[in-house]
Amino acid sequence: METRVILHMAYTKVWDRLSRPLRDLRISVTDKCNFRCRYCMPEELFGTDYKFLDRNQLLSFQEIIRLVHLFADLGVEKIRITGGEPLLRPNLPQLIQHINQVQSIRDISLTTNGSLLAKYAGELKEAGLKRITVSLDSLDDERFGQMNGKGFRVGPVLQGIDEAARAGLQIKINMVVQNGINEQDILPMARYFREKGHIVRFIEFMDVGNSNGWRLNHVVPSKKIVELIHREMPLEPLEPNYVGEVASRYRYLGSNQEIGFISSVTQAFCSTCTRARLSAEGSLYTCLFGAHGTDLRTLLREGVDDDGIKEHIMTVWKHRVDRYSEVRLSNTLELNKKKVEMFHIGG
Ligand code: SAM
Ligand code: SF4
Ligand code: SF4
Repeated sequence: METRVILHMAYTKVWDRLSRPLRDLRISVTDKCNFRCRYCMPEELFGTDYKFLDRNQLLSFQEIIRLVHLFADLGVEKIRITGGEPLLRPNLPQLIQHINQVQSIRDISLTTNGSLLAKYAGELKEAGLKRITVSLDSLDDERFGQMNGKGFRVGPVLQGIDEAARAGLQIKINMVVQNGINEQDILPMARYFREKGHIVRFIEFMDVGNSNGWRLNHVVPSKKIVELIHREMPLEPLEPNYVGEVASRYRYLGSNQEIGFISSVTQAFCSTCTRARLSAEGSLYTCLFGAHGTDLRTLLREGVDDDGIKEHIMTVWKHRVDRYSEVRLSNTLELNKKKVEMFHIGG
C-alpha cells in the first residue's frame, strides 16, 4: 500500500487546504429520475409540476468530455457517472466510450437504480464500462415500492443485476439503511447477494439536501449492522484497497466473499475525501453537502480556453476546506444550512 500512496502523490497536481488531492470526479448526467425515493426526491416535493432542467441547460456530451480531459490533466483518475438516474440520459454508452479513451482515467463506474439496467448492461460493457453500482434498499416488493415512491418492483432490478453479471460487469449493491423503514431487509439482502457472489454495501442514511427530513435517530450505525450480520454469518475485517476507500471492507469467514459498510455519519471520512462533483448543469461542488457550486458551464460556453478553465478549477480546489461529515454532530449551524439536493450532484 505504501508504494501505491507514493505513486499517487507523484501524479497530484492540486491539493486543497487540508492537503487532500483532487483525484475523483462524479458526474451527474441528468437531474431526472423515474423513482421518487423518499430520502432523495420525495414525491410531494418533486411531483408532476416540478421543473427539471431543460436540455440546453444540461452539459452536452462534448462539454462533459472536454471537462473530463481538463480534470484528468489536474490529477483525476477515477470517474463515476451518476444522476438523477443516469440511464435516462439518451445515448449514455457513447459518453462512456469517449471517457474510456481519456488516457489517464483508469477507472469509470456508474451508479444506477437498476430499473433500466437489463436493457443497457450489454451496451454499457461494450462501451468500456467495467464496474457498476446498483442501489437497492429492499428485496420486499411492497417495501421497495414504498421506498422508491413509484411502486417499482424488485424483479426488474434483480434481472438488471443478472444481466450486468452476464455482460461481465463487476457489480456492487448499495443499500441505504433507515431505522424503522428497512432494517428488516439487512439480513435478506446479505444472504441473497452472498449467494449471488456480489458485494453489498450498507450505507448510513445521510442528511443530504434539505428535503428528506433527516434525523440522527433515523440512522442505523454500521457497527450495529456488522454485529447483526456477524451473529448469523461470521465476518472478519479486511484492509482497505487504497487510502481513502469509503467502505470498510469485511469478508465472510472462510470465504473470499466481501461485504462493505459506508459509515458516513458515525465514522466520517472527510480527511481522505478526494472527490469533486459536477452537477448536470455543469456546476462544480467540492462536497456532497455543499450549498453553492461554481459554474463551469458558462466558462465553457463563453469560449474560455483550457488553461483558463483549469485555472478556475484549481482555484476552487485550492480553497477547499469541506469536512461537513466530521463536524455534522458538533455544529448545528452546518446542519441547518441550505444544501444542494442529492439528485443534482449524484451520490
Ligand atoms: N439514481 C441513481 C441511484 O439511485 O443509484 C444514482 C443517483 S443516487 C442520488 C446515488 C446514490 O445515493 C444511491 O445509491 C442512493 O441510494 C444514495 N442516496 C440518495 N439519498 C441518500 C441519503 N439521504 N443517504 C444516503 N444515501 C443516499
Ligand atoms: Fe432517483 Fe437515485 Fe434519488 Fe432514488 S436515489 S430518487 S433512484 S436519484
Ligand atoms: Fe467529502 Fe464532504 Fe462527504 Fe466529507 S462530507 S467525505 S468532505 S463529500
